[in-house]
Amino acid sequence: MGLVLTFAETIRNREGIEAAEKFVVESLRRRPSVHGLHKLIELNLAEAQESNKDDLMLLRNIIEELREQHRGYACQQCGFRGKSLHWLCPGCNRWSTIKPVLEE
Ligand SMILES: [Zn+2]
Repeated sequence: MGLVLTFAETIRNREGIEAAEKFVVESLRRRPSVHGLHKLIELNLAEAQESNKDDLMLLRNIIEELREQHRGYACQQCGFRGKSLHWLCPGCNRWSTIKPVLEE
């Protein structure tokens, strides 16, 4: 997603916010991501009417909170950490021991 965000900024500078939004929406369709969603809301905020800003800012805050909460996954048996969910732990080869990490 990092590359998508960089491209989105480039498009925004060259072609404007609308083109950047379109690009981010296309990327989100292909691969949903919290970072992409955050970017889309930021782009919308930049051109939002005053009356719509509160809602968008609320959405942005929720996403930032979710992003903060999601610190990857950890095995409860061996402590293996990863960014994606494994059903079979690569660390200890046990099934279904990996759970989302909510707090440090
Ligand atoms: Zn494990």
